[in-house]
Amino acid sequence: MPARFAPSPTGWLHLGHAYAALFAWRQAMETDGRFLVRLEDIDTTRARPEYETALFEDLAWLGVKWEEPVRRQSAHFADYQAALDQLAARELLYPCFCTRREIQEEIARAANAPHGPDGALYPGTCRDLEENERARRIASGQPYALRLHMSRALAAAAPEMKWQDLDHGIHTATPEIFGDVVLARKDTPASYHLAVVVDDALQGITHVTRGADLLPATHLHRLLIALLGLPVPLWRHHRLITDAQGRRLAKRDDARSLRQLRAQGWTPADVCRALDLPPARDSA
Ligand code: GLU
Repeated sequence: MPARFAPSPTGWLHLGHAYAALFAWRQAMETDGRFLVRLEDIDTTRARPEYETALFEDLAWLGVKWEEPVRRQSAHFADYQAALDQLAARELLYPCFCTRREIQEEIARAANAPHGPDGALYPGTCRDLEENERARRIASGQPYALRLHMSRALAAAAPEMKWQDLDHGIHTATPEIFGDVVLARKDTPASYHLAVVVDDALQGITHVTRGADLLPATHLHRLLIALLGLPVPLWRHHRLITDAQGRRLAKRDDARSLRQLRAQGWTPADVCRALDLPPARDSA
């Protein structure tokens, strides 16, 4: 019954990551002790090897132990493609040729554009393009993303999908809040939402722990799980760590990075104290 910590190697780990890692570690210790780390590095333009090296150093310093080999998303695009093929075969995807700017302009024209967790919903410009127009644009080399046809996807899934957060109870999935979400980007043949669902299933993750900022995303993940016929895990969305002004820590806040704190003489026990958590080694 493994749990996992799934950082993106796009910056130094900070206290917020330490909390997420220790939370997942404690979850693993409460179940069967299996703790996995996954590198969410599909955004190959932002991921950097030095962040990756630092991330493992920081985790080891914190006192958590993970199973090897670590799964690296950038090595598994074929798995995400297989999932996309499965959805495409059921006509649940369509190519979207819009640029970011075209989408913004279209949204600005609409009086009351609906908004979801990631901002304004896609207005559907490419949803009903004629098949030969699609083929023409693809043949001419126009770049495209793949979007989920949300209304068809909802019709294809069970009418009421439930998911459970061990701390926040049972939810009925409302994936429509995301609209026709992108599942494969123009520059990356997968999206976070697709890759995370595929990977959690392939890695046999039974307890998905992550920050409360991603709770809305779970509604969408539950739909993708249903469409792809994957096992449904349990979730725990934990509190977010903030700075003295109550703002969520971000990767650019170098001052709270674990390596900075370590350089200032902090110990792993100091980190746990600051996060109001018992030390990792004690839970082993
Ligand atoms: N890679 C994501 C992040 O760094 C974690 C997503 C997840 O745990 O599902 O926020």
